[in-house]
Amino acid sequence: MISKEHIIKRFISYVTIDTQSDPNSETTPSTKKQWDLANKLAEELKSIGMQEVTIDENAYIMATLPSNVKHEVPVIGFISHFDTSPDFTGANVKPQIIDKYNGKNIVLKKKENIVLSPDYFEDLHQYKGQTLITTDGTTLLGADDKAGICEIVSAMEYLINHPEIKHGKIRVGFTPDEEIGRGAHKFDVNKFGADWAYTMDGSQIGELEYENFNAAGAVVTVKGKSVHPGYAKGKMINSLYIAQEFINSLPRIETPEHTEGYQGFFHLHDVNGNVEQTMLKYIIRDHDKKHFEARKEVMVKLTNELNSQYGREIISIEIKDQYFNMKEQIEPVMHIVNIAEKAMKELDITPIIKPIRGGTDGSQLSYMGLPCPNIFAGGHNFHGRYEYVPVESMIKATEVICKIAELTAKRK
Ligand SMILES: [Zn+2]
Repeated sequence: MISKEHIIKRFISYVTIDTQSDPNSETTPSTKKQWDLANKLAEELKSIGMQEVTIDENAYIMATLPSNVKHEVPVIGFISHFDTSPDFTGANVKPQIIDKYNGKNIVLKKKENIVLSPDYFEDLHQYKGQTLITTDGTTLLGADDKAGICEIVSAMEYLINHPEIKHGKIRVGFTPDEEIGRGAHKFDVNKFGADWAYTMDGSQIGELEYENFNAAGAVVTVKGKSVHPGYAKGKMINSLYIAQEFINSLPRIETPEHTEGYQGFFHLHDVNGNVEQTMLKYIIRDHDKKHFEARKEVMVKLTNELNSQYGREIISIEIKDQYFNMKEQIEPVMHIVNIAEKAMKELDITPIIKPIRGGTDGSQLSYMGLPCPNIFAGGHNFHGRYEYVPVESMIKATEVICKIAELTAKRK
């Protein structure tokens, strides 16, 4: 129903524009170059016939596809981000198109022997015979999340060209800076005015997510006392050893490398220290709110214990919540997940419903009053040179958007 060539052309027109975001920038968007794609997208939305197309001073884009039915239908939204990860360069992306993938190694860059291999990336096996878009081995691809944008624009275009498909009012939102955790920060939920929305920002075909981590960051500071090592007996306090005690007191197996599914963790990701002072940086993650709170408490308790053991304020901790599990916001409106699931099944896609071991813009938006599960956009191996996306998955995601619109209008 949707032409492959058309999707490929549109997708390539997006990924060849560098939109890498920058966590060290204070501005929104964090990089000026994000405007290059943002302005193009606003124009494109107008040109396909979308209405109320706006782009604000922070580069947030919104647009409307008006309802084509007389009865009341909830307003639904579809959201994607146009920035790419700061983890890997997104400049001069040169996509390669692998037609009728033969299931074997894909050489991305011959000279440096950079190979995308199904022996290592086993997901590739399921795409045998399909059309893959890969990188040339020197950049990321940007399917995260330009595949999502391509699918939303293509779905809107399709609905505009096929008025026989009945749907309610649909809102579209494209954001900057998702990759640095700020995509939702300046998103005007009131202006968007949808009853609920979906981020098109998942990975493989079938993914449907409405649970994510509760997340916090902790900074532990240990204050020591530096004295000449030759004359230090009874005087020196070596903050490095106390920090080590702290580290060893947390369960070694409750760490990212030992956990999966619904298992939470403490993740020590940065240590910086000398005798005088040592700083430990942790992130704390758990899907379960009670367990999440308990993890934070464990760290505070440990801090207090070490202080009383040393008889002084030798160690301090600062914990900041980062985001919460959207499940709490989604469960009261579970029909929005059910509609997406039904849409997939009607399109012969097997829904893969699993908890996200991370956060999404949708989790922040859900707490801002816009319930927002996440749907696959089709790509794999995000944030690096091995990123790829099957065109067939992008077409399916486009169809899922159209089908959700159709099912929502049918509900009453
Ligand atoms: Zn993304």
